[in-house]
Amino acid sequence: MSREQQAVARARKAFETGRSRSLEYRILQLKNLQRLFEEKQKEIAEACKKDLNKSEVGMQMYETLGLEGEISLAVRKLKEWAAPRPVEKNLLTLSDTVYIQPEPLGVVLIIGAWNYPWAVTIQPLIGAIAAGNAAVVKPSEVCVHTSKVMEELLPIYIDKELYPVVTGGVPETQELLRQRFDHIFYTGNGTVGKVIMEAAAKHLTPVTLELGGKSPCYIDKNCDITTACRRITWGKYTNCGQTCIAPDYILCEPSIQDRVIEEIKKSIKDFYTDDPKTCPDYGRIINQRHFKRIMAMMEGSTVAAGGDSNESDCFIAPTILRDVKPEAKVMQEEIFGPLLPILPVSGLDEAIKFINKGEKPLALYVFSPDDKVINRMRDETSSGGFLANDCLVHFSVSSLPFGGVGNSGMGCYHGKYTFDQLSHLRGCLIKKLKMEGVNDMRYPPHTAKKLGW
Ligand code: NAD
Repeated sequence: MSREQQAVARARKAFETGRSRSLEYRILQLKNLQRLFEEKQKEIAEACKKDLNKSEVGMQMYETLGLEGEISLAVRKLKEWAAPRPVEKNLLTLSDTVYIQPEPLGVVLIIGAWNYPWAVTIQPLIGAIAAGNAAVVKPSEVCVHTSKVMEELLPIYIDKELYPVVTGGVPETQELLRQRFDHIFYTGNGTVGKVIMEAAAKHLTPVTLELGGKSPCYIDKNCDITTACRRITWGKYTNCGQTCIAPDYILCEPSIQDRVIEEIKKSIKDFYTDDPKTCPDYGRIINQRHFKRIMAMMEGSTVAAGGDSNESDCFIAPTILRDVKPEAKVMQEEIFGPLLPILPVSGLDEAIKFINKGEKPLALYVFSPDDKVINRMRDETSSGGFLANDCLVHFSVSSLPFGGVGNSGMGCYHGKYTFDQLSHLRGCLIKKLKMEGVNDMRYPPHTAKKLGW
């Protein structure tokens, strides 16, 4: 038996003992996970620093604080989420008890990405534990240090048979994918998303795919451009642009392009000083493969700011590209790096048309003081999430479903949505063996007379 097979078999066996079904046990595991974040901040921060040059405060802000919030929400609400949910009845079932009973699915496979390695790997795990499942956790091998720390720490704090960590790259993940799971929760790019779905189809396993895409950002010429650009600068260059919901590119009228560039440049300086390379809050590209991929994307576009780089430490400066054409290299795929192309458009109509020509993105941003502009953008396009006048913050709202649509993914999570995503919502109807007379009309022979017609 391979290491992967053993981990899955052990998780299945542990699930079959039934211990993960008890709400007390689930809460205990969640609290243990909470303790891990309280006690091991230093180890987590050091690994994130080595992998992505994340600062300690930055790591807490974007990784562990959100997880701690999700854990305490789950602990607080678990009884309510797991309880039977009464539903409306029809005439035939008036005297019955009709409800939805969430039940665990079984063994879940969680495959994480590297950009926010704790957030995107542990957040589904919180939901898997809360929903009473076993879960095999596969962190991304690309964040070398973090995946090692995760492999070391998780088994110390939570049930290592129910929630094993399996590390490794493509061969190990593919070996995992040959096993039978009851749900696969994958975060990463769409090409691998298709591999996951194909493997899942062999066992009829349902999947959640948290993918990416080119998230557009439209700036209305009537908005407060200074504030808009400050928020966009934050959304774009946090984690060096390696954020699934980062604004990928800007659409705006040519008349405001210069202002937009100036304001973003100002914010870059405010946030990361004149020399982002030495600024502790400015990240690095995860590895040289991604460094080369991002640098190649700049070809053929005009650099309006930034553009400098250093391959040996995977540094790429916060960069703005101006007058970018739809055919440009940088517009062909998700950037996932600190390049911000600006595409001039004649106005809202052209922006909407342009967005609708592409795949449905994970997030869509509009900056405007005018509700009509915001509503038109919302109603005439489609995307995983929609934000007006800010970036990224919807990720932090546990009461909003987070996920993609079309090419940006399927299924959603956060808060109760993760619990529901990783539960089977079982429809239950409990009838008494009394009052059989009421049922007479449904039994053959079916005559109009019997029905009173
Ligand atoms: P990655 O390279 O770490 O891959 C993700 C996982 O897939 C890893 O665990 C890896 O081992 C596995 N994998 C890679 N190739 C495989 C293969 N051929 N077969 C089986 N498994 C394989 O991460 P990535 O894809 O570079 O991540 C970046 C992408 O993820 C971006 O597109 C980004 O937008 C997206 N993303 C989405 C979200 C979200 O919540 N929707 C969050 C973060 C990242």
